[in-house]
Amino acid sequence: MERVHLKDLHLTYDAGNLKTRGVTDQIVIHHTGNPTDDDMSATEINASHQGQGWTCIGYHYVIRKDGMVEQGRPHWTIGAHAYGHNSHTIGIHVCGNFEIGEPTSEQIESLAMLLANLCTDYGLTIDRDHIVGHRELMSTACPGKNLYAMMDTIVGKANFYAKQ
Ligand SMILES: [Zn+2]
Repeated sequence: MERVHLKDLHLTYDAGNLKTRGVTDQIVIHHTGNPTDDDMSATEINASHQGQGWTCIGYHYVIRKDGMVEQGRPHWTIGAHAYGHNSHTIGIHVCGNFEIGEPTSEQIESLAMLLANLCTDYGLTIDRDHIVGHRELMSTACPGKNLYAMMDTIVGKANFYAKQ
């Protein structure tokens, strides 16, 4: 299986505050959702979340508009991205506001390959039970209607990548 290239930005935070996640049975897709369709780095999100008093970036991965996948908090730790569901999920943040903008084709391909990698690593079936949009877990527009409309396509692509 082809592996997505992960960019480590060496985010600064106190790793001792993070807890190991015991169960992983879902992957949650998010967008940025800022008023503009922007492209924040994991470093910028890390600073923003620390500004809210959190240990570090709440997501495990950030996918930039050029398709680069940046590492957030370590994948094996409990995230801070889906209220009530952090103990059993991985959070992937796709940069942009997909209520108003469209994800780039590079973002879609990187997301599909990352999902293929993660589902394989964690032994999850690549389907819509295990890969969900944030809005399926609570009342939110996240990950934006334009990305959410592509969920079935993304899961199909992830299945393709997993077999490569
Ligand atoms: Zn979200």
